[in-house]
Amino acid sequence: MSEKELNDILKELTEKAKGARKKLMLLDFDGTLVEFTPKPSDTEPSEELLDLLFKIAVACENQLVIITGRKKDDIDRMVGRLPVDIIAEHGAIIRENGVWGILINALASWKDEARSIMDYYCRICPDSFIEEKHFSIAWHYRNVGPVCAGSGLEDLRMALEELAGSNKLKILNGNKVIEVIDPVINKGSATRYFLNKHDYDYILSVGDDRTDEDMFCVLLNLEHAVTVKIGDGITCAKYRLDNIGQVLMLLENFKITRN
Ligand SMILES: [Mg+2]
Repeated sequence: MSEKELNDILKELTEKAKGARKKLMLLDFDGTLVEFTPKPSDTEPSEELLDLLFKIAVACENQLVIITGRKKDDIDRMVGRLPVDIIAEHGAIIRENGVWGILINALASWKDEARSIMDYYCRICPDSFIEEKHFSIAWHYRNVGPVCAGSGLEDLRMALEELAGSNKLKILNGNKVIEVIDPVINKGSATRYFLNKHDYDYILSVGDDRTDEDMFCVLLNLEHAVTVKIGDGITCAKYRLDNIGQVLMLLENFKITRN
């Protein structure tokens, strides 16, 4: 988008927040606040980002929630020192007022079978790897060659779809990652949890991935909700920004300005 288009969108989104006394901000993490890295554990948020999030979180009118598919310990390592609420594992786990707990419970006995399928593809696709969470399991193929990322992925997907069909599970196709999860766990349910807690008069929701659509859809008919999709692809978000840099420009408008 042109500089003028960007400025117009940023101005419009900021104007909508003017006068709001209780703002909810639901921010996805990877691809929204930080760039993807070869391995999830490689990600290190910059001090500038942490400082910006801190200055948003301490403004008394803001409730800042980081809402991510990452494991609890992983996201806690990166943003745990901030005074924010955190939703981890796509909505399953919550840190609220500094205390971790389970927000949505689900059976996970099917994970053994999913793991053995993924183990097989890890052996034939070197540089792919498994990420195991409490209620889901993911196969990352960001670092594999084109043959594995093509036919290997398709074979794996078919095997997982069979497992998903017989166990009523959902397959999430993320950015170079395929994940199996119970469909009761999603960012939409986590969003509803926050909506039921308070009457917010401004809601900002930002994300880049298919999993963020569940959050956008829950907010679709709320007039005071601003939903922002990052990058290309079909979305039910009302606005779109091109990249993380533009998200950070938007967020600058919500930080506390006094010292
Ligand atoms: Mg993301």
